[in-house]
Amino acid sequence: MRFGFDIDDTLINLREHAFHIYNKKLGKEIGLEVFKELKRVEIHEPFGMTAEEGSQMWKNTLEDIYYTDCPAFPGAVELLQELERQGHEIYYITARYQEHGERTKKWLLEHGFPVHDDRFFWGMKDHEKVNTIKQLHLDFYFDDKPEILETLTDQKVKVFLKDQSYNRHVKMPRIVSWPKYKDFIRELAD
Ligand SMILES: [Mg+2]
Repeated sequence: MRFGFDIDDTLINLREHAFHIYNKKLGKEIGLEVFKELKRVEIHEPFGMTAEEGSQMWKNTLEDIYYTDCPAFPGAVELLQELERQGHEIYYITARYQEHGERTKKWLLEHGFPVHDDRFFWGMKDHEKVNTIKQLHLDFYFDDKPEILETLTDQKVKVFLKDQSYNRHVKMPRIVSWPKYKDFIRELAD
């Protein structure tokens, strides 16, 4: 089968990682309980930043956010490795900008994710992911952003939302934590 995955906040815990970096850079100690209650994707509000300051902070910190030691969600690497071993095809579809494609691919490989050059797609806007996903004839696609999955409702692909504090209001099949391979396949069949 053909599995498509978003990367940030679907397979890896990027925003939480960024939250720690913000605390360190700004000399603050804002607790994770605040992070876990955020109702939006952006993380700047608890640090008292405006939207503009927040977006500048994200840009200035992006190098650290993307390429340091951001942890994968528990079970994600193991699951994808097992999917690969079982002969399934794994595709990555990320909105990370053009200039981050090659390094992101390398970072994923270094952190144990199975990546094939021709199954890695990046540099599109969120709402453009639908075109790539359509062309790939995926069986399953996983993302943390409901707006992306909603663009796919008329497609054959079966979509799942990666559970996050900002998407709990949406009713969609949901992956709370990455299960073991056998449980995963069983869950998809339901
Ligand atoms: Mg994402």
